[in-house]
Formats: sequence, C-alpha cells, structure tokens
Amino acid sequence: MGEFDLIARFFTRPGRGEGGVVVQGIGDDCAVLGPTPGMQWLVSTDMLVEGRHFLSTVAPERLGHKALAVNLSDLAACGATPRAFFLSLALPRADETFLAGFAEGLFALADVHGIVLAGGDTTAGPLNISITVMGEAPRGQALLRDGARPGDQIWVSGRLGDARLALEMFRGRVALPGEQFQRVRDAMECPQPRVALGQALRGLASSAIDLSDGLLGDLGHVLKRSGVGATLALAALPRSEVLAAQPAALQRLCLLAGGDDYELVFTAPAAEQAAVRAAAAACATPVTCVGCIDAQAGLRVLDEAGQFLSAMPDGFDHFKS
Ligand code: ADP
Ligand code: MG
Repeated sequence: MGEFDLIARFFTRPGRGEGGVVVQGIGDDCAVLGPTPGMQWLVSTDMLVEGRHFLSTVAPERLGHKALAVNLSDLAACGATPRAFFLSLALPRADETFLAGFAEGLFALADVHGIVLAGGDTTAGPLNISITVMGEAPRGQALLRDGARPGDQIWVSGRLGDARLALEMFRGRVALPGEQFQRVRDAMECPQPRVALGQALRGLASSAIDLSDGLLGDLGHVLKRSGVGATLALAALPRSEVLAAQPAALQRLCLLAGGDDYELVFTAPAAEQAAVRAAAAACATPVTCVGCIDAQAGLRVLDEAGQFLSAMPDGFDHFKS
C-alpha cells in the first residue's frame, strides 16, 4: 500500500469532508477554509510521541481517540467550537490493522464534535502523531489565561488524578485490582475533552486552561499570565473512589501534579457562582469550586487539616522529568 492509497483508504471520507467552514478538504495542495462571519479562528497543535505520550500497549482505536482528544481539549479551554483538523503522521510501516483501528477511534470522536479532517501529511518514520485543530469563537470572546482577578473562584471539571494513578500502575509502583485498574486506565487512554463546557463558559469565566501537565503547573500558567496568586483546598479536589482509597501522599501527587487529566480549570467572579453551576449543569458536566484567586503572588495549598502544604509535587515538564 502506497502513501496515496493509505490516505485515500483510511483518511478520506467521501461526502463527509466538505461543508461548513471546509470549502476544499483533502486532495489538493492546500485546504480552503471559509470562516463564519463574526467569528475568530482558534488554532492549536499537539504532538504525540510513543513512549512519552502513550505506551506501545495502547489499542490503536484509543490512540486515535486520544490524539484528537488532547487537541480538542485545547479548543475547549479557549471556549472554541471545533471546526477542522489536520493530521500529520509518521508511521514505521503501513500496518492495516493499526491504521483501521486508529482511524476508527479518531473519526468516532471527530463525529461527536462535528470536526472535519481537512488535510495532513503522511511519511515513513518512527511513530509520531501530530494534529492541528481549528475552532471558532465569536470575536473577542475566546477564554484566555490572563483574565483571573483577586476574589475569583477557581473551578475544575470532572475528577482529577486517575490518569496519573494508571501511569503509576503501569510503572509497577502501585497495585490495583483488575476492575479498578480498568477504570483508571480508561481515564488515561480515553479522556473526554470538555468542549461543551468550554463554550458554555464564554462570557462567564475570567480565565481557563486545560489540565495536561498537572493542576499546580497548569494553574501556575494562569497565575503568571494574570499577575495574581491563588489558594487551593486539597480536600475540595474531586477524585474517584479508586483514587480516594489510595495513601494520602499518592493522592496528593495524582491530584496536584497528575497530568493527562484533560479537565478544565477556570476562574470566574464569585458573583457568577450560580451562573457557572447552571452552565455546567446545562452541558451535564460536573464542576467543583476548589479555591480562590488572591492578590498575593504564589500558589498555596491548604491540606485537610487547614495547614499550608510546605512541599509540593512538581508538574510535568518534558525537559525536566
Ligand atoms: P503535498 O505533496 O503537497 O505535501 P501530499 O501528497 O502530502 O501533498 O498530500 C496529498 C493530500 O492528502 C493533501 O490534500 C493532504 O492534505 C492530504 N493528506 C496527506 N496526509 C494526510 C493525512 N494523514 N490525513 C489527512 N489528509 C492527508
Ligand atoms: Mg505532504
């Protein structure tokens, strides 16, 4: 199977490619996109590298899902509506079983969010998956990292830490019974990007970010860009029953520095509390208030006894860990 057969067979979907913003999709030198009047483009790229972002044990369907999910999560964090994406693939070989599974997982998630594959690039090489997503938001309404203000409440969606717990399990540092392992493994391999919540928070949240590298590190980016500090309550951080049954130190690590959660962290004025709850309920996404923004710089964490934590786990950094 050659490069062009591969693209035609696995990544071209007749009748599904064009429409909406995609005027011309796969098959020419460029895709042609037409923005919706009054909207701005939001564009983000994320690359997945074997051994670093995923393990060789992951099923191809799940890899296809996750590659797109982590990109959709960036659109969600900015409150964007997903429109089109581009897929660059380096493949060691044209393995049909792998490609069929990968495409199945990828397009299943793409169809849920109405995003169209509009082009890409395919080459031989060590397995590497790079996706660029394009979304839209009304002019000036994108959620950014720089709007958090003292007195704002800090919210997170869903539950934190299960993906990290699964990673610790794969690393042989934690033992879990089969059924519990399956649940945290699902969190790691099949994250559900909070696209509906992100859009519902437009005009409501003062800042937002998605959690890819751990709560402390990712919230730290918001604090820096906004020129503020924050206090978090450890006891308030939402966690699964599986994580809640683990030793306290492991829970802290997974909750504060977990990574791979793909939940949203956002801030909103305290006066908007009821509106935030209503917006989240309207898209059936659980949200929890976990702290507040302070004028004082720095990030403080109160433990279960109301004492400030002195030592905090590090977030993920590709060039440090
Ligand atoms: P070029 O030679 O101009 O780089 P290619 O031959 O790489 O173009 O690609 C041919 C067409 O197939 C282009 O429209 C490109 O966007 C599309 N394409 C290539 N690889 C992929 C892929 N993995 N997924 C989707 N579309 C792809
Ligand atoms: Mg090319």
